[in-house]
Amino acid sequence: MSDPLDDDARFLRHVGPARGRDFARLGVRTIRDLLYAFPRDMSDRSSLHRIADCPEGEASTVLASAVAVSERSIPRRGGKGGRLKITTAELSDDSGKFLEVSWFNQPWLKGKMLRRRMLVHGKGHWRGARLVMDHPLYQIVPEEDAQAREAVGGFARVVPIYPCAGGLTQSIWRTIMTRTVELYLSGLEEPLPVEMVARLDLPGIGEAIRNLHFPGDAAAWRRARLRLAWDECLFFHLTLLAARRHALLDLPGRQFRIGPELDNRIRRLFPFRLTPGQDRAIREITRDMESPLPMQRLLQGDVGCGKTAVAAYALLAAVANRAQACIMAPTSLLARQHFDTFERILANSSNARVRMNILTGGMPAAERALVVERLANGGIDIVCATHSAIGGSVAFRDLGLVVIDEQHKFGVRQRYDLVRKGVRPDTLIMTATPIPRSLALSVYGDLDLSVIDTLPPGRKPVRTLLFPQSRREQAWEAVRNELRRGRQAFVVCPLVGEGEERLDVKSAEAVLEGAAKGKLAGFRLAQLNGRMARGEQERIMDDFRSGRIDALVSTIVVEVGVDVPNATVILVEQAERFGLAQLHQLRGRVGRGTEPGICILLSDAREGEAGARLAALLAHADGFAIAEADLAIRGPGEFVGARQHGWSGLRLVDPARDIDLLREAREEALRLLEVDPDLVRREHLFLRRELVRRYGKLWDRAAGL
Ligand code: ADP
Ligand code: MG
Repeated sequence: MSDPLDDDARFLRHVGPARGRDFARLGVRTIRDLLYAFPRDMSDRSSLHRIADCPEGEASTVLASAVAVSERSIPRRGGKGGRLKITTAELSDDSGKFLEVSWFNQPWLKGKMLRRRMLVHGKGHWRGARLVMDHPLYQIVPEEDAQAREAVGGFARVVPIYPCAGGLTQSIWRTIMTRTVELYLSGLEEPLPVEMVARLDLPGIGEAIRNLHFPGDAAAWRRARLRLAWDECLFFHLTLLAARRHALLDLPGRQFRIGPELDNRIRRLFPFRLTPGQDRAIREITRDMESPLPMQRLLQGDVGCGKTAVAAYALLAAVANRAQACIMAPTSLLARQHFDTFERILANSSNARVRMNILTGGMPAAERALVVERLANGGIDIVCATHSAIGGSVAFRDLGLVVIDEQHKFGVRQRYDLVRKGVRPDTLIMTATPIPRSLALSVYGDLDLSVIDTLPPGRKPVRTLLFPQSRREQAWEAVRNELRRGRQAFVVCPLVGEGEERLDVKSAEAVLEGAAKGKLAGFRLAQLNGRMARGEQERIMDDFRSGRIDALVSTIVVEVGVDVPNATVILVEQAERFGLAQLHQLRGRVGRGTEPGICILLSDAREGEAGARLAALLAHADGFAIAEADLAIRGPGEFVGARQHGWSGLRLVDPARDIDLLREAREEALRLLEVDPDLVRREHLFLRRELVRRYGKLWDRAAGL
């Protein structure tokens, strides 16, 4: 039986194809989506004031009579020619003060207003004894008493403000919502258990949706919003916890043994002393691996802090326990780099018998088939892979440890897809995108947290310079200086875009050509981009790493993880086109050795978000500070990386602000799943349906529905 709420919103009266497209841009496709279409804000017009009582600088609603109306015109600003008509009315009420209201370019108002009673709502400013409002919302009040009362009631109330798209005005929104709520609201099922609604004193779903669109007062609107935010938090945690529980945690996993002897053997392999931060992380990981419960640990640490060494420790410890281990990275470059790093580490070992391989999507089919076969029959101990490791054809004989590098590049589902290839393997997830601990716990509610807060000794801070395009010669000169001293350079260009963007984006090729003829003439240059064949990419990266290339002109493919300590300078073309986290990652490509690094940003942006990003990069060296700045500039949604993968389902909830709500919801989710792990009880029927609706496959598979 089909649910009318799942019908296409286009077929509603007043909607149709054009508005349907506008709605679709806002993610609204079905009637249900419409009911759940959140106003982005509300305007509280409910407090009627006498003119004399209107507070300075605040929005108020006034009911008064127009005692004089005038019109004048002034030249349009900005030299566009033509004139601007300004209509001004003087209103008075029994408070003895006057209110002056003006509108631009609404000349028809003039004839309508005189001697009529009007409702206006806007921000008032006192100019001596008179209150002034520019461009207020208004309504002319009918003469007849009953109609007048209705008009006042309709105007002086709380009005939700909907997001705009295309031709959707606020009044069209309201017309459509009136009809939708009237016809369909009663068909909406309450997803929360009745018991919970009562215990937490929440409005029911029908009441909440009604008050979201037609609130009686501001408090009702807020309560409605809170209820819907609560749903988001609860569903989010139920999904995370169910996924975790179903994949892993309800049963004990493998118990590794890492005694002092093994610990010593592994530590001796590193060519350096581990930093205190690395040490602590390793202790926490060891404890998890030795415990029968499967590890679910997030390792956070700024770019260059040495997360790879910690991963290597865990991988080797797993292999010493005769398990297979997999490290998954977002690019084949990085998978390859990990492979090389581990080989170097193992070269220090006297009895190295660790069998290691690479597995990437781009490798020759025959080679790949061989790796897949040997993973299945246990002929490989450690595999350094890309997301190709989660492909259907890949199976492990005995996967005991999963490490996910640069986890913000992957989604939760991909993580669980890999984890399921073992029997409750230990999982270590690494990221350089730092988030405050409290936020991490509420967003990655299914993970424990380790933080590396120290850098290897001898690191000097990277000097960050911002050059306008007019001084690009100087910027390139700085690059040349480093190359002359035997150092290497990264030059990063924005992605070669599709369509129109292609034209104004400097492609890596053009930049390379310019450099070869100009400032970098005589040096060995090469280009690297994501469109090259994998083998080609790897060959170039090898040449760069071993010093056969002086400067690498590339796209963002080098964003994360790439480690070439002899590279001391990175020049970023059109830096305004990159995100803050990306820029911080890019900057992290240099200053990884003992020589100080230089990061040169070429950009003319000084204002707006792009300007703010560049300023933040100049102001802060530390990843946590960068993350805070990013949070301030962009808001938390994208910043946690979850939204990017479209799975978090958090729309109303701001993970930074609503920490308490998220935490409470997590407790409730735990309690619910304890009582009814798969949510199969009758009282959870609508809850489960809603979860499937919102989280689709993730929940589907997680709860085995
Ligand atoms: P990230 O945390 O960004 O992944 P890496 O693991 O790539 O950082 O390490 C960055 C660089 O620091 C590498 O060249 C690595 O060899 C070096 N390194 C890591 N740990 C130490 C240490 N304890 N002492 C000295 N150098 C280290
Ligand atoms: Mg790394």
